[in-house]
Amino acid sequence: MSPRSPFPRSTVLGYPRIGPRRELKRALESYWGGRSTRADLERVGAELRERTWRRLAELGLDGLPSNTFSLYDQVLDTAVLLGAVPERYRDAADPYMAMARGTEGLAPLRMTKWFDTNYHYIVPEIGPGTTFALDASKPLDEVRQARALGFETRPVVVGPVTFLLLGSALDRLDDVLGCYEELLSALAAEGVAWVQFDEPALVGDRTPEELAAVRTAYERLGAAEQRPGLFVAAYFGDLGAALPVLAGTPVEAVGIDLVRGGLPAADLRGKTVVAGVVSGRDVWRTPPGRALAALGSVRAADVVVSTSCSLQHVPYSVADEPDLEAGLRGRLAFAEEKVVEVVALAEALVHRPGDLDRPDGVPGREPAAEVRPVAVRERAPYAVRAAAQAGHLRLPALPTTTIGSFPQTGELRAARAAVTSGTLSQADYERRVETEIERAIRTQERLGLDVLVHGEPERNDMVQYFAEHLDGFAVTRNGWVQSYGSRCTRPPILHGDVARPGPITVRWASYAQSLTARPVKGMLTGPVTIVAWSFVRDDLPLRDVVLQVADAVGEEVRDLEAAGLSIIQVDEPALRELLPLRRAAQADYLEWAVAAYRRATSGAGERTQIHTHLCYSDADQILAAIDGLDADVTTIESARSGARILGAVAAFGRGLGPGVYDIHSPRVPSADEVEELLRRTVRALPAERVWVNPDCGLKTRTYEEVEASLANVVTATRRLRAELRS
Ligand code: GLN
Ligand code: ZN
Repeated sequence: MSPRSPFPRSTVLGYPRIGPRRELKRALESYWGGRSTRADLERVGAELRERTWRRLAELGLDGLPSNTFSLYDQVLDTAVLLGAVPERYRDAADPYMAMARGTEGLAPLRMTKWFDTNYHYIVPEIGPGTTFALDASKPLDEVRQARALGFETRPVVVGPVTFLLLGSALDRLDDVLGCYEELLSALAAEGVAWVQFDEPALVGDRTPEELAAVRTAYERLGAAEQRPGLFVAAYFGDLGAALPVLAGTPVEAVGIDLVRGGLPAADLRGKTVVAGVVSGRDVWRTPPGRALAALGSVRAADVVVSTSCSLQHVPYSVADEPDLEAGLRGRLAFAEEKVVEVVALAEALVHRPGDLDRPDGVPGREPAAEVRPVAVRERAPYAVRAAAQAGHLRLPALPTTTIGSFPQTGELRAARAAVTSGTLSQADYERRVETEIERAIRTQERLGLDVLVHGEPERNDMVQYFAEHLDGFAVTRNGWVQSYGSRCTRPPILHGDVARPGPITVRWASYAQSLTARPVKGMLTGPVTIVAWSFVRDDLPLRDVVLQVADAVGEEVRDLEAAGLSIIQVDEPALRELLPLRRAAQADYLEWAVAAYRRATSGAGERTQIHTHLCYSDADQILAAIDGLDADVTTIESARSGARILGAVAAFGRGLGPGVYDIHSPRVPSADEVEELLRRTVRALPAERVWVNPDCGLKTRTYEEVEASLANVVTATRRLRAELRS
């Protein structure tokens, strides 16, 4: 059946929900800490939703979404909606939070990154025993809450194909479609005019079977007797082959990402196209000429102005950033400002359609600079480097080290806040940082580690710290974006040409080295990771921006070396994250990402040992690229992914440090357990190339846990060393 009312003229696909001052974070943490009740938490949620609807309406937005709020994650909400709650969580005091965060006796569900964003979702666990049963209370409650406030809303739900693909269970399509049909009829009974099904999985490479599932799903849902209008939103790229498939189903509206994706080739004349012309992934104002041109090129029954994806990936408002320099502020648009743009574009579309024919009537940005070739100085071959480093460093077999950070104490964070507020002098703060460095060095010496780190006490965050010390970046005061659950980050804004006005970490690294005769490892964040975790200028190709950052990191590498650091680690944990969703674009990305890394590190002499660190288990797609980084030593997550990763990295032929314990848990591994893992490692890899280290940095742990764990790591290593000698 067809919808009762036409689609609104302007809308957004979703909105931030953590609260402009991270109210949700505080409410969650207070509930988790036992200082407030579930009802208190729900009340904060209701207030945040109310505030969002009122604000969106005030700004003139026509189509308000609902069910975009979440206490933790929208994919987890969808699992609950469909009744896909694994048996073992059902008796927990709060099953939802138990799935999200675990309990004393229960591990949480797995969490991973949402497409190519830095947002993490909870992976649905769907097994042969999973029974689906609809529980539509959350979307219905939100529709009712909004209606009581005078707002008609469009519930947003993760669509069946994306949900099942995320849970690797597309074979259960038939079962979940039953629930979706029931949901449609419940929404229709509630008088809901439109529902939005989010299907970002459709912008990736999809097999013919998967495309057939799309057809089956939307033909079946389209045929439902009682239902609202169906709006399928696919974002983060081009719909490609999925578009004609969707166009051939009875869905009434299709959401297309016109910022990242191209223009639809399919025949959409019978559909409403919800045109995503305002980017939900960056913080820049939309050039109106470009947006109007894109709108003008859509040939459809009806065109609605929207954002390219949910605005959950950008902060609330530029109005909360009084410290930003005026010129930069004028170029920025966060969620609120993007809503204003959507409304203005919809206005132009209705009242001044003539503008559509003058795409360049409004000035855009400067044209992009020329793409430069990537010049990479080649380092000496590995064998030459390895010999030079061995002679210089004189490390024992199975050298022990850590990934960089040591526990970040509350006092240190308080001291940083005190410097910002002016109650602590810079000199006093620096003395405290030095005290922390000394503590880290003495601890490592006492434990008997071979390669030491300064512990990163001066860093609030591994990206923000560098952004604060490089030209071309700005940092925000309130620009928080949800990363997962209550975790938020404040991505720096990379707005201009990047340059390093002076050394950044050299002071701390050389102080650490001055305290000890053992080698200290300098610690830097790699160019891809710095860019991946920032909002980046869009007037230059991403590749060129990364290269600028690589040159700045390269200068730091050379200064560390000149200051006497003989080991330098350049972390690239986000290498995987920026991998394009489409296979066709991946090789090009990996090529320049690797080239940027090598450009940053190749200035180091052959005696200087370069380490890199990566912390994910799904490295399979980028193994060749990790090898291509050509680092002398690669430390990598492996305690959880186990033997699989060992086999894969064995072929690298250079130093390798597969993590011997998982730092994400407070558990202290026993020496026996570490020894067993090490034994497995030296069976899979030549012992002379093996390093011994934890899985990742230690900043989230306590000193107590760290000391106990590392003591056992050293004990296990010594036992094995003795065995190798005999
Ligand atoms: N050097 C960083 C640390 O130890 C690496 C963190 C990471 O891999 N994400 O904290
Ligand atoms: Zn890590």
